[in-house]
Amino acid sequence: MAQKEPAAVRGRIEIAKYPRVGLYPGSFDPVTLGHIDIVKRAIKLVDHLVIGLATGSGKSALFSLEERVAMWQHEASQLGKDRATIEVIPYAGKLQVDFAREVGAAVVIRGLRAVSDFEYEFQMAAMNQRMNPEVETVFLMADPRNQAIASRLVKEIAMLGGDVSAFTTPYVADMLAKRSKERR
Ligand code: ADP
Repeated sequence: MAQKEPAAVRGRIEIAKYPRVGLYPGSFDPVTLGHIDIVKRAIKLVDHLVIGLATGSGKSALFSLEERVAMWQHEASQLGKDRATIEVIPYAGKLQVDFAREVGAAVVIRGLRAVSDFEYEFQMAAMNQRMNPEVETVFLMADPRNQAIASRLVKEIAMLGGDVSAFTTPYVADMLAKRSKERR
């Protein structure tokens, strides 16, 4: 009788055959050190990470989808070369669950900042689970120094001419400074 393959070996073979794809969705208006912190953690868990850019329903975006893609493409090029591959794709007008299916994601990565994020994330995860039971939502926490950073506040500070260098990258800070000048 043929011997059953041990589970661990089967697992390793499956991992080699099917790279684990993760989806990190968000509006990223703009990208902050909080988001980058989460990506650095996510690429320890997946082989390929898709950063999905939503239009940001209900939020008035400071940066166009193209500008936000450019930000992530710039930042992603400095991350994770030896860990995982990263791809930046907008998914305007699509449901997150449908987009996750489209890119073959097994996990959706979300960041948790404070208790205030929990209620919304809990509902989203539960409803997405009903719509697509194949995908698991994984919550990650940023380093405490990056936990309080929110795009909304970074935008506000930059638009009032403040220094955002502790909250975002030089590339994004530069884009913010330019947008702030244009708006004045
Ligand atoms: P926001 O505009 O509120 O910063 P996004 O939609 O751009 O939010 O965020 C995408 C994901 O990143 C969400 O899961 C959000 O909770 C997470 N995130 C944003 N900032 C942080 C942070 N400072 N620490 C951990 N997770 C974060």
